[in-house]
Amino acid sequence: MTIYQRTLSRPVACTGIGLHSGRRINLCLRPAEPDTGVVFKRTDIPDSPLIPGDVNAVVSTEMCTTVGSGGACVATVEHLMSALAGVGVDNVLVEVDAPEIPVMDGSSAPFVFLLKHTGLKSQDQPRKYFAVRREVCVSEGDKFLKVLPADHFSVDYTIEFDHPLIRRQRMVYSQKNGSYDRQLSRARTFGFLSEFRRLQEANLALGGSLDNAVVVDDYRVLNDDGLRFDDEFVRHKVLDFVGDMALVGRPIMGAFVAHKSGHALNNKLFRKFLADPQAWQLVSPEAAPLDFEAAGALAMPQQAVA
Ligand SMILES: [Zn+2]
Repeated sequence: MTIYQRTLSRPVACTGIGLHSGRRINLCLRPAEPDTGVVFKRTDIPDSPLIPGDVNAVVSTEMCTTVGSGGACVATVEHLMSALAGVGVDNVLVEVDAPEIPVMDGSSAPFVFLLKHTGLKSQDQPRKYFAVRREVCVSEGDKFLKVLPADHFSVDYTIEFDHPLIRRQRMVYSQKNGSYDRQLSRARTFGFLSEFRRLQEANLALGGSLDNAVVVDDYRVLNDDGLRFDDEFVRHKVLDFVGDMALVGRPIMGAFVAHKSGHALNNKLFRKFLADPQAWQLVSPEAAPLDFEAAGALAMPQQAVA
C-alpha cells in the first residue's frame, strides 16, 4: 500500500495576535501541489515574496524559529509546522500578513483544529521518508541532540530547569504510545515572569499574556487554570521539536535523543543530517511506518466540525 502525499481539501483562515508585535495577524492556509512542501507567503509585502519552510532557510532561532529569504522573513513558524507534521500535511501555502505566525493559545491545538475542520486530501505522488542510516549528533556544553537508525519516528526528550516547578522532566514520544493530537498539541509555550518583564522592556513579546503562554514566577504557575498536563513543559518542548523537524521537508524514520535541546540545537542537527548523504536514504515504504499520519488520520472527523 503506497502512502500518498496530502494537502488541504480547501483553504482555511484564522486571525490571531502576534507574540512579538502584539498585532492582529491574518493567516490563510491553502492547498498546494505535490512536492511543494510548506511555503510561506508574506501578503503584506509588495510582490508577496515566498519563503520556503526549510531548515536551510532558518535565519534565527532566538526565542522561536524564523525562516527568511531575500530579506523577507516569518517568525514563530514552529507551532504551525508542528501541527502540519502532526496531522500529516505535506503540501501547503501559508499566507500571512505579518512577519510572524499568530501565537493563538501558545500551543498547536488551534492549528490542528483548523486542519481537521477543513479536511485533508490525498495527492497522486507517494510520500517519501528519510530513513536514518547512521548516527548524527550535535552538542553544546551539557546539551545534546542525536538521531539513530530506527524503523519509525520516536524522540526521548529531557529538560532541566533550576526551577521548583520544572526541575527534570522527560518524555518518550512515539506513535506507539499515543497520538500527536492528545499527547502534544495542547501543550503551551512557557516563560518565566522575570524574563517576560525584561522582554517587554525591550519591546519584545508585546503580545505575550496568560492567554498564550504558561507563565511562572519563582514558585508557581500564574495562569488561573494552572497546567494542562503535569509535565506540560517537556511536552511543549517535544511539540517544538516536531515543528523544527518538519522543516526537513519529509518525515524522518529515526530515534532521536534530546537533552536540554532547543530551536538552535534542533536546527544545527537537522542541517548536519541533511548535509551528510551517508546519514540517510529516501524511501517510499510500502507499509506505513509508525509516524504522525496514522494517528492524525484516525482522529480525522468525517464531517467538518462546527
Ligand atoms: Zn514553542
